[in-house]
Amino acid sequence: MTGKLVGKVALVTGASSGIGEATAIAIAQEGVSVVLVARRADRLEKLLRHISDNGGQAISIVADVADEMQAHDMLHKAHTQWGRVDILVNNAGVMQLGLIDGANTEEWRSMININFLGLMYATHAALPIMKAQGGGHIINISSTAGLEANANTAVYSATKFAVGAFTEALRKENHSHKIRVTLIEPGAVATELGAQITDPEAKAWAEAWIQSKTPLASEDIAAAIVYAVTQPPHVNVNEIVVRPIDQQ
Ligand code: NDP
Repeated sequence: MTGKLVGKVALVTGASSGIGEATAIAIAQEGVSVVLVARRADRLEKLLRHISDNGGQAISIVADVADEMQAHDMLHKAHTQWGRVDILVNNAGVMQLGLIDGANTEEWRSMININFLGLMYATHAALPIMKAQGGGHIINISSTAGLEANANTAVYSATKFAVGAFTEALRKENHSHKIRVTLIEPGAVATELGAQITDPEAKAWAEAWIQSKTPLASEDIAAAIVYAVTQPPHVNVNEIVVRPIDQQ
C-alpha cells in the first residue's frame, strides 16, 4: 500500500456506517492501518473485508464508547496490535432530536454518554500513548449543531458545543507534546444518523430540513479529515466547518 500516511495507525470510532466508514476507507487508502470500532460487528466485518480487498490493513473491535472500560480497552488493544496510535477519530455519535418539554430523558443520557463522555474516555486513553510515542493527532467530530442550537436540537447541540469546548482545552494542553487536535463541524450529511429519532414530529422536522438541502456525502467529510491528517507535522488544522452549498 502506498500513500501519504504509510506506517501510521488510526482508531476510528463509529466506523460501521456513515462518516466513520468513509473516513476509515479514505485513510486506509493513504496507507494507514485502521482500527475500526463500533457496536455492530457485522458491519465492521464487511468494512474490514472491503479495506483488505483493496490492499489496506485493518482490524475491528466491537465496543461501546460510552462504557469507560471498553473505551480504554479499545485504545489498549490498538496499541498492542500495532505498537502505536497516531490518529484517533472520535466520530461515534447519536442524534435523538425533540423538544425539551416532554422529552424522554433516557435519550438525553444516551447522547451525553456517547457523543461527549465516549469522546472524552477515548481521548483520555489515547493521550498517554501519544505522549509516550512523541505525538499524535486527535480528530473530534462535532457538527454545525455545535455552533448553533435550534428548537428540537437542545441536547444534541449541547453535546456538540461541549465537544467544542473540550477540544479547545485539549489542544491548548497538548500542543507541547506534539499532539495535534482538529475539530470537524459538518453540516447536513446523508447518513443513517436520523434513523434513531423516536419523536415523530422531530423526525419529520429533521427530514424536511435535510430534504430542503443537497446534503453532503460522508466522503466529503472524510476528505476534510484526510486534509487535516496529511498536513506536515508543524501544521495544526484546528477547525474545519463543512456545509452543503445550500445550508445557511
Ligand atoms: P451514522 O449513524 O451513520 O454513524 C454513527 C456511528 O456511530 C455508527 O457507526 C454507530 O455504530 C456509531 N456509534 C453510535 N453509538 C455508539 C457507541 N455507543 N459506541 C460505539 N459506536 C457507536 O451517522 P453519521 O455518520 O452521520 O455520524 C457520525 C458523526 O457525525 C456523529 O458524531 C454525528 O453527530 C456527526 N455529524 C453528523 C452529521 C450528519 O448530518 N449526518 C452532521 C454533523 C455531525 P454502531 O451503531 O454500530 O455502534
